[in-house]
Amino acid sequence: MSDGTSPVGAQLVPSTSFHSMWRELLPIGRHPESRGYRRYAWTPADSACRAWFQEQAQVRGLTYEVDRNGNQWAWAGDPAQGDAVVTGSHLDSVPDGGAFDGPLGVVSAFAALDELRGRNTQFTRPLGIVNFGDEEGARFGLACVGSRLTAGRLTREQAHRLTDGDGITLPRAMEAAGHDPDAIGPDPERLSRIGAFVELHVEQGRALDLSGDRVGLASAIWPHGRWRFDFRGEANHAGTTRLADRRDPMLSYAETVLAARREAQLAGAVATFGKIAVEPNGVNAIPSLVRGWLDSRAPEQDTLDTVIEGIETAAREYAAAHGVDLDVTRESFTPVVEFDHALRDELARILGSETDLKVPVLGTGAGHDAGILSGTVPTAMLFVRNPTGVSHSPAEFATEDDCVAGVLALADVLEGLACR
Ligand SMILES: [Zn+2]
Repeated sequence: MSDGTSPVGAQLVPSTSFHSMWRELLPIGRHPESRGYRRYAWTPADSACRAWFQEQAQVRGLTYEVDRNGNQWAWAGDPAQGDAVVTGSHLDSVPDGGAFDGPLGVVSAFAALDELRGRNTQFTRPLGIVNFGDEEGARFGLACVGSRLTAGRLTREQAHRLTDGDGITLPRAMEAAGHDPDAIGPDPERLSRIGAFVELHVEQGRALDLSGDRVGLASAIWPHGRWRFDFRGEANHAGTTRLADRRDPMLSYAETVLAARREAQLAGAVATFGKIAVEPNGVNAIPSLVRGWLDSRAPEQDTLDTVIEGIETAAREYAAAHGVDLDVTRESFTPVVEFDHALRDELARILGSETDLKVPVLGTGAGHDAGILSGTVPTAMLFVRNPTGVSHSPAEFATEDDCVAGVLALADVLEGLACR
């Protein structure tokens, strides 16, 4: 079955199609000084990105819709037919984020469709392109809100309690952007019509750069979590309190930061204290409280458990040595996400890597909408090489040639899946 729409992109080779879209998207939400992106959910920058998506759908004659949770969809073929093949990613960003995290997957999706139309591909399954809303959680503090709601992993009541730094609730922000916040909730019927979801994403590390490959396949998303360490000591005068008389929680906190680095290094994991709160937070006061947030991720659950146990044991020793009390609270946890093995094998076969491993398979420490969906829908991910290895920063990068290689790989995958 043909997708039944006018092949507007048919004449475009992927590089032309990719680059004209990329150029259009590039200025939206870019901060003039930091040069980073501030495309936060339900803001004017986000609305501009969403308008761009709608326009891309319309110029290609695709059926455009916004679901109850504000995710945008563009369809070639009728999704009601079921067993759809869907690709896409997100257009929002972290504070001062890079240009590639998210948009690369959405732009590549449209460019891959243009490539397939150029090849005159006849689809036997509906093909969808999606932009998931509020993936980064930069504004309301929770990642993947659009896909979580759809997959039933976040309730309407929980979502309605989300509030941004200015005290604006998610429902108010949605309403201001023209979306009905009372409509949000699980969408199992929509997910049941999807037979495969493939998300293309810029790599957020240097594995492909080190292996010399343009494109890779995801094996799994590492288990990860956040822990809060509360070190409680005694506030006192920084000038008059003898060192021997102090109960200074900053010391045990500092030692714990070093222990986290050591434990992670030993285990082949990562551990980061990236946020800290100090009370009373005065230059001339010994702190009464140091609260540090630990983010840790590892390839396997056992490894992560060992790392956290090691850090906590060390922290308790340091706290005791300084007469400081310690409470450790696990604030969030996401178990390992194994992508669908059958789908991954199929992608490897399509990309010709079954025998010679032309496309490497790698794990990732970052969360994605694909990870949220993988509990319900067979899901796979493609990574495009990022020579800087940097992500969530304006230094995030992929070369033009690698982006086009990503588009072609995605086109091959969609052709292999949607034309069988
Ligand atoms: Zn992303």
